[in-house]
Amino acid sequence: MASSGRGRLAGKNALITGAAGGIGLETSILFAKEGANVLMTDISQEALDKALAKVKQLVPTAGRVETRLCDVSSEPAVQSAVEALDAWGGLDVIFNNAGIMHARDADALDTPEAIWDLTHNINVKGVWFGCKHAVLALRRHGKKRGSIVNTASVVALVGSATPQLAYTASKGAVLALTRELAIVHAREGFRFNSLCPAPLNTPLLQDWLGDDAAKRHRREVHFPTGRFGEAVEQAQAVVFLASDESSFVNGTDFVVDGGMSKAYVTSEGPAAPPPV
Ligand code: NAD
Repeated sequence: MASSGRGRLAGKNALITGAAGGIGLETSILFAKEGANVLMTDISQEALDKALAKVKQLVPTAGRVETRLCDVSSEPAVQSAVEALDAWGGLDVIFNNAGIMHARDADALDTPEAIWDLTHNINVKGVWFGCKHAVLALRRHGKKRGSIVNTASVVALVGSATPQLAYTASKGAVLALTRELAIVHAREGFRFNSLCPAPLNTPLLQDWLGDDAAKRHRREVHFPTGRFGEAVEQAQAVVFLASDESSFVNGTDFVVDGGMSKAYVTSEGPAAPPPV
């Protein structure tokens, strides 16, 4: 399947999970701009329809961009989404991005088992299913290169003082499985990298912050930059990891956090340059 023929992802067939909003939608837009054919997947057709309309409006020159329902916690659903790209010439790129974040716990020991299981079914098993069926598809089509990008989080690197243990542990598992697959499949030309975003302006974060301006400010001062990141800033990194420009980047925890995970935080906020 020919794409628009130009751009850093020209000719690549990409599947994105959790594509109806946030990072997944911004990545769908940039992938389409960069010439990829994109299969946008998520769990709500209504949300996917709105997201697709936005992609088509912003990228009128887009190649093939379609939507499909896919609950990543179901292996048959992930398998059939990946196999849908067989008719396009086979998958080249998968962005395993779908994820959920549960409400924070008063105490890390309070995490209910049901929340642990739900979070791991989506955030870890969903990523594993995507990786597995991507590799099978790349092999099926005799591809000599492929890029798999999995969304983790900076909390997997630095932990979170306000506990969300199931989420943090699930993202740590994403880093670990990504590294191992990166080593195992490197000689086939298949690269695996984790994206590690810091808290961003997305619905997921807005749901958690609610209308609490003070809570928002307390979080923002933890950034050396003094602001949350934007989803498009994650999407720009995903384009790089998906493209051949990153041909020797494999097995990384690719951190896009404005320096947050490197800042020493005091009770007054981070030991960062004062605002100018
Ligand atoms: P978002 O809520 O806008 O997007 C997540 C998407 O995943 C939604 O469209 C949702 O419908 C979808 N989804 C949920 N359950 C699913 C399932 N079972 N199968 C398929 N899709 C499902 O939030 P976002 O911030 O864009 O989140 C994207 C990824 O980034 C997640 O993995 C999240 O954990 C991670 N992340 C987000 C932040 C942040 O601050 N927003 C920070 C670090 C990491």
